Amino acid sequence: MISEISKFRKIPDFICPFCGALCDDLIVETDGREIKVENACVVGTAKILSSVKYHKRVLKPYVDGREVNLEEALDKSAEILVKAKKPLFYGFSSTSCEAHEVAIELAEKLGGVIDCTSSVCHGPSILAIQEVGIPSYTLGEIKNRADLVIFWGCNPMHAHPRHMSRYSVFPRGRFSRSRIGRKVVVVDVRPTESSKLADMFIQVEPGKDYEVLNALRAIINSGDCRVKRVGGVEIEKLKELADMMKNCKFGIIFFGMGLTHSLGNYWNISEAISLVKDLYRFTKFGIMPMRGHYNVSGFNEVCTWETGYPFAVDFSRGYPWYNPGETDTNSILAKRDTDAMFVLGGDPAAHFPRATVNYMKSIPLIVVDPFWSLTAKIANVLIPSAITGIEAGGSAYRMDSVPLKLKKIVNPPEGVLSDKEILEKLLEKVEEKL
Ligand code: SF4
Repeated sequence: MISEISKFRKIPDFICPFCGALCDDLIVETDGREIKVENACVVGTAKILSSVKYHKRVLKPYVDGREVNLEEALDKSAEILVKAKKPLFYGFSSTSCEAHEVAIELAEKLGGVIDCTSSVCHGPSILAIQEVGIPSYTLGEIKNRADLVIFWGCNPMHAHPRHMSRYSVFPRGRFSRSRIGRKVVVVDVRPTESSKLADMFIQVEPGKDYEVLNALRAIINSGDCRVKRVGGVEIEKLKELADMMKNCKFGIIFFGMGLTHSLGNYWNISEAISLVKDLYRFTKFGIMPMRGHYNVSGFNEVCTWETGYPFAVDFSRGYPWYNPGETDTNSILAKRDTDAMFVLGGDPAAHFPRATVNYMKSIPLIVVDPFWSLTAKIANVLIPSAITGIEAGGSAYRMDSVPLKLKKIVNPPEGVLSDKEILEKLLEKVEEKL
């Protein structure tokens, strides 16, 4: 029994490569074939275990449904990309920053377009942040100081299951006394698992967040608002919330897709940020988007330092051009303005509108993925990859833009390379063919 246990290597402070919370307090034990996980939530655990269980894993490369070797799959991919007039590169939220760098170089060399999943999630938040800036903090500061936590249009209990227990609501901080010392408010269009844990729940009519934010600003700045109800919410309730906001010592708004993608779009975020700026006259306040995939923030960082823009960058003019609404993936697919697509670290077939998925199916599609995603199933060329953060190392940015180092703890399936290695080999082949 003792020798059985001793075969297992214990890895403390392991980082979960699933959601933008990037919890870094996991303990994993592995002998290379089995993994035991402590501290992760159920989704994080499932992802980590999928590495050794090979559940739904792609294990061989394919070209048009035929099993091939990696060389042939890379050759075919390079041929497709070099032949294309304007190849589109998409995904990159579930891979390392090191892979991002190579993918951006590839897109630039080919005069293509590179975009990440931000263009269908927090893209509008990024536009608002570019316009009005963002007063924000790290999750560590929030854990240590926040005494008022507001979740607007997000449901962390489902999307980021350990967010409340690790960073925002329940942990004991240096200056904050765990749940007892914090007020929690949830604003959403319907009750959720998260709203059940809140001190105050505000139910907004769908699409009326902008009006509610605007009324809150009026109350904070002038003390009143000359209507009785706005967006389905009684003004008295908003006055109560405004009071809580003005009188807290350190407040934070976490917002999600419910705010970013409801009617008003990026104006909602711009208004929420302006509300936080108004509050600066009374107390300390911050705001933060709840980023979904574990390294979607990382792509925005790398793309900005490489090209000057955070996503949806078009190199077809010979220099980086950025104009979401024109250069984002869905707009390009809807206009049929691309003739080949490369997907890595994303699953557009599962999330895009039917019309754009149909167009994706009509052009050569190259997919690099560790799993049989919906996009992998419709690929012309499919290349299996190692799971970043478990079978390959690299860097990733948490939702508060703090960079963390992901660890490799087990080997990938035989013959399977990391995203970065695949992209480097592909870049070499493209350079040869060009
Ligand atoms: S909350 Fe997110 S990062 Fe943390 S363990 Fe769960 S899936 Fe992983």
